[in-house]
This record gives sequence, structure tokens and C-alpha cells, in this order.
Amino acid sequence: MTLEELWRFTLGEIEVSISKAQFNTWFRNTSIISLENGKVLIGVPNGFSKEWLENKYNAIILHSLLKNNKEIKEISCQVIQETPPLQKTTSGIDAISARLKNTPKSSFLTRQISQNIKLSTPYTHSFHTSNLNPRYTFSSFIVGENNNLAFAACKAVSEQLGTLYNPLFIYGGVGLGKTHLLQSIGNSILEKDPEKEVLYTSTEKFTSELITSIKNNTINSFKAYYQKIDLLIIDDVQFLSGREKTQHEFFNIFNTLYQKDKQIVISSDRPPKSIPTLEDRLRSRFEGGMIADINKPNFEMRLAILESKSNEKNISFPKETLHYIAENITHNIRELEGALNRVIAFSQLQNTPPSQELAEKALTDLIGSGKKKTITQKDVIQAVCNYYDITPEDLQKKGRKKEITHSRHIAMFLLRSELKLSYKGIGRFFGGRDHTTAMHAYEKISLALEKNLSLKEEVSAIREKIFIFD
Ligand code: ADP
Ligand code: MG
Repeated sequence: MTLEELWRFTLGEIEVSISKAQFNTWFRNTSIISLENGKVLIGVPNGFSKEWLENKYNAIILHSLLKNNKEIKEISCQVIQETPPLQKTTSGIDAISARLKNTPKSSFLTRQISQNIKLSTPYTHSFHTSNLNPRYTFSSFIVGENNNLAFAACKAVSEQLGTLYNPLFIYGGVGLGKTHLLQSIGNSILEKDPEKEVLYTSTEKFTSELITSIKNNTINSFKAYYQKIDLLIIDDVQFLSGREKTQHEFFNIFNTLYQKDKQIVISSDRPPKSIPTLEDRLRSRFEGGMIADINKPNFEMRLAILESKSNEKNISFPKETLHYIAENITHNIRELEGALNRVIAFSQLQNTPPSQELAEKALTDLIGSGKKKTITQKDVIQAVCNYYDITPEDLQKKGRKKEITHSRHIAMFLLRSELKLSYKGIGRFFGGRDHTTAMHAYEKISLALEKNLSLKEEVSAIREKIFIFD
């Protein structure tokens, strides 16, 4: 097998396990440069792809390569084509990579932080139409490993509205900065051109306004209103799930804007693929643009955020106090901010400067409840139902509806992997099914997890729900 064939077969494998948008973004213009002693060197068009392929896609590439050549042990990437700095004509991904290249990784955090400390006067504008919060800007957003793709994509969109990535789809768990980033695009656009029509809305709000307009017979002006918009930001689009009429109108509005090269930016807590009962045509629209995820912040990032936020508030903390908070509050950035505010409030109340001892006292409740020690069967079922928007009865029923069957398999898998329940017990719980059903479900999901990246993300999002559920 030639290297070219090897790569072609491998790409074929990869293509079926990730979304089309991700595949096009990351694997277009790649090739194998060499294969020596089990080491594959992959040629990529820019530094950004290199980082992404080596880190995020490492396992999936290796796995797919191994299917075609058992001797392969590791991969690395090499940039084979330098990209010019950001220009109007460069493709989206080049634009991002140029931006990242101009900002070396190590200085990324520090640069963002120093911008925060300067605290440029917040941009003010009469936000009666846009619904934007002026606090959410790119300069107050701290960039780290967990969010640099999403940040770069949002930045790039704000510089090339409508034509670069449309739609831009940002997804990630709660409190990780999606709303902040989405609104930063809007604020940056209005800062440059206050005449632009920007609208930020939550999916909940969109839905309830739509329903009202249907009731009041004003649906035409509702649509006309949306069609004037240059930048439409729709937050938490997972809530569209199961609302047919809303999806239908959303699709129409989406199409009109899209055809006029108007920008649409969307957020969700999961990738389009994993939003249950999303119309296929909407799903493929969402997947047709750029998809970027935000992950949980690592310790370094959490510490950087705490430093920045305490600087913003002009309160100095001993280093070990911030360390203590960063080590113990790990789920998301909203909780981190909350914890910091709590320590500050405590310190003011007791009239003592912040210290680790004070932080320990202030955060006992948070840390105590954040770390749930025993997970029950109910927690698992509740998290699965919550994620797929179904009821426990749906899960237990005998039906064979495709979405329900999938959720049931995931639930069986998690009961086994997280709680080590017996197959017999699991079968019994699901309406007296045989133990082999549970066993098959467990094996099927375990196997699929090895090669299906989006399933992996799906399962880890549900796991997260299990552990932070109260
Ligand atoms: P999400 O929409 O993903 O649930 P938000 O955008 O509401 O999260 O973020 C929660 C809080 O954390 C907000 O106050 C936001 O400003 C802050 N935040 C999140 N990510 C960052 C970041 N990278 N830098 C600075 N603040 C952040
Ligand atoms: Mg949000």
C-alpha cells in the first residue's frame, strides 16, 4: 500500500466518525509525508491544524491508521505550507491560524490578562434592540487551551461577518463562556459600526415570541423583523429540540438570512448531531458552517481566570489562596467566579484580608456539594433523561423508537460503567429485559466509543450531568 493509499483509506475511516464540518476543517489538504519505524509524519497546511490533529484528533487518527497498517505506533504533524497573515481573501481556517500564529501560545493568556487589567472603558451603546451585555467583550475573555478554537473562530467571524463561517456553531458545557463569546462578536460589530443590526436572543425567548406572534396574528412582522438583521445570535439552541413549529420558522428565518450572507451564530450545550429531534435539514445547516467546542478549563486556566477577575476587582489575593480555589472549584467558570465573589464577601464581612483559611471557610458548602461521593441509579437515569429530553418511563417502556433505544443503550452503558451494576439488575430495571440485552448494549456502546468521537463527547456530557446533579 502506498502512503497515498494508506492516507486515503484512513481518511475514509475518519470521515465517518466525525462531523462533516470538522472533517473538512481539519483534514482537508493533509497528506502523509513519511512512514518510518512505525512513525507517521502527516503534512498539514498550518500550525493550527498541527496542534489540533496532534492533540484533539490524535487517538482517532491513530486508531484509523492502525486499521490499515498494524505496525503504526505514533503520529506527528509537520506544517508544509506557510500561510500569509490575516487577509480578507484567506480562507477561514487560514485566518484563524494566522491569528494564532501572530499570538504565540505562551503569551496568549498573559496578553489577554494584561488587557483585562487595563480595563478599557466598557463600550456603551443603547442596547435596546441588540440585548447585548456590554461586559461581554473579547478583551475581557481569557483564552486558554480549552477555548482557543472557539475564541479564534468568533474573532474571525467578527472581522468577516457573514462570509467566513456561516453559521458559526459554538458548543460546550454550562458556564464555560459560550454566551460571553457570542455576545463579544455582537459588541465588537457594534463598536465598529453602530448602524449594524445585531440581535442576541435565547432560544427560549425566540420560541416564546414566536408563539405570541402566532397567537396575535403578527407572524409576518415577526419574520420581517428578523430578516433585517445583520448578525443574529441565538443562544442555547438545544432547546429547539422537540419544538416542530419553532424549528420550522427558525429554518425559514435561517435560510433567508443565510442566503443574504447575513451572519448567524449559534450556541448549544452539545454538537448538532446530539440534539435529539432536531429536524435533519436544520442539523445539516448547522453542520454546514464552522463548529467549535469549548472544554472545561484546566488548573492553569482556572488560576489565570481567578487572577484576572481579582485584578478587575482590585482585590489582592495571596497566591496560595487562588491556588486553593482553582484546585477545588473545577466544573466551570461561572462557579469559579461565584467562589471568588464569595470569598471576597466573606473577607469584607469578617473584615479580614483574603487567605486560604478564609477561603476554606467561605467555600465549605460549595466544595462539599460539588464533590458528590455516591452516585445512585437515579442520578444516572435523571442525567440521561435530562440530556435526551425524555422521561424515565420512556426509557423503561418496551418501545423500539430509534432515539429512545439509543438513550436506553447509553443509560445501560452508564449504569454498568459508573455503578458496576449487574447486567441482570440493569435488565430488570428496564422493564424486565433479559441480562443479555444489557450486556449487548454495554458492549455496543463501549465499542462505538473507541472510534466515534461525537458519541464520546455525548457520553462525557452526560457523565458531567451525573456528577454535578443535586
Ligand atoms: P455559558 O453561556 O457557556 O453557560 P457564560 O458565557 O454565561 O457561560 O459564562 C459564565 C461566566 O463565566 C460569565 O460571567 C463569563 O463572563 C465568565 N467566563 C466564561 N469564560 C470566560 C473566559 N474565558 N474569560 C473570562 N470570563 C469567562
Ligand atoms: Mg449561556
